[in-house]
Amino acid sequence: MHRVIDRPIAASPAETFTCAVPAKGEPYLLTPGPLTTALSTKEAMLRDWGSWDGDFRAMTAQLRAGLLEIAGDTAGDYDCVPLQGSGSYCVEAMLGSLIPRDGHALVLANGAYGKRIATTLGYLGRTATVLDKGDYLPPRGAEVERLLAADSSITHVVAVHCETSSGILNPIEEIAAATAKQGRKLLIDSMSAFGAVPLDVRQIPCEAFVSSANKCIEGVPGFGFVIARKSALQEAKGRSHSLALDVYDQWDVMNRTGQWRFTPPTHTVAAFIEALRLHKLEGGQAGRLARYANNRDVLVAGMGKLGFEPLLNARWRSPIIVTFFAPAHPSFRFERFYESMKQQGFIIYPGKLTVADSFRIGCIGQVDEHVMRAVVRACASSLREMGVPGAEPPAAALEERKALADAD
Ligand SMILES: *Cc1c(COP(=O)(O)O)cnc(C)c1O
Repeated sequence: MHRVIDRPIAASPAETFTCAVPAKGEPYLLTPGPLTTALSTKEAMLRDWGSWDGDFRAMTAQLRAGLLEIAGDTAGDYDCVPLQGSGSYCVEAMLGSLIPRDGHALVLANGAYGKRIATTLGYLGRTATVLDKGDYLPPRGAEVERLLAADSSITHVVAVHCETSSGILNPIEEIAAATAKQGRKLLIDSMSAFGAVPLDVRQIPCEAFVSSANKCIEGVPGFGFVIARKSALQEAKGRSHSLALDVYDQWDVMNRTGQWRFTPPTHTVAAFIEALRLHKLEGGQAGRLARYANNRDVLVAGMGKLGFEPLLNARWRSPIIVTFFAPAHPSFRFERFYESMKQQGFIIYPGKLTVADSFRIGCIGQVDEHVMRAVVRACASSLREMGVPGAEPPAAALEERKALADAD
């Protein structure tokens, strides 16, 4: 009856981590969430839970503790506040609850998610200054420090950990150090990074960060979570413009009752408990990073043999998702490529760049190097179908990359 909650998040000696194979006819999702999940994660959803029942409250407590453990909060300075909705709901909740109405945010943007943060702050009526680095340049610690030193009215820095629109892994340690040195507060959108890329609050001083169920922990969509300093949560009382997105209120009610305010995504939480167990079984954040990084390396090497070039040079390339330039050959059509890849069992992701034509392949979810090799073979076959002999990008696209090399 209580299979899920009675099973501790710990590896039994006999069990080892292996990636799931999707059911027949179900494609691999090579996308940055929703992503391919384990069969046992899906199976965990095959029963119903009462939202205020003790069993479900225990699952909520287990989920919060498991996430704080991954965040390295051994001192008990932080707390975890899960919130219904997709990741963007949690970003908005964090911004509206943790930045005072008379606060001023410096947003470090280099893609769609950084821009969404700026847009959200506009809706919330918070003053924002945006450092826009374009599509493929990282915001650096030194420039953050300069901007903060020049404007003492800035209270918060908002950074994106892995900017999923290009796959760039922003130098969050550098940004955190610069923000701390200037005595400001750091808020991080670690949506697509947390759980695989290190984000340990003992090493990266931050006021709060957010992530969601369906990224590197490999759960199914339905909620996100804010991990924040307890002092920040306390100060957030009465600040939010929105009842549903009030992180303080969700925290306060959850601490007093063990329950979510409003209907919780019960099945998603059950799946997440199993996903957390598998995360630990794989060796936690370090184990997951090793698999994702290997996925990326196998993918980039294989695609390189076909002529595909990644947008980013190796230094900034995340283990989360890789952007490839679209081939220059006139017979290449992304729509055909996409359909052909789908026929072969792989859902890839269109590009999200403003300048160059591109597409993306995710390295996260229940996929390993064998899957990545199969992806490369499928790409080769799709190119043959279209009559594209080589996948080399246009020369102009490669010119773009030079700017990135200059930034190193
Ligand atoms: C996935 C993601 C989000 C949230 O997107 P939703 O579609 O709202 O779940 C936010 N930021 C980043 C960097 C992401 O990768």
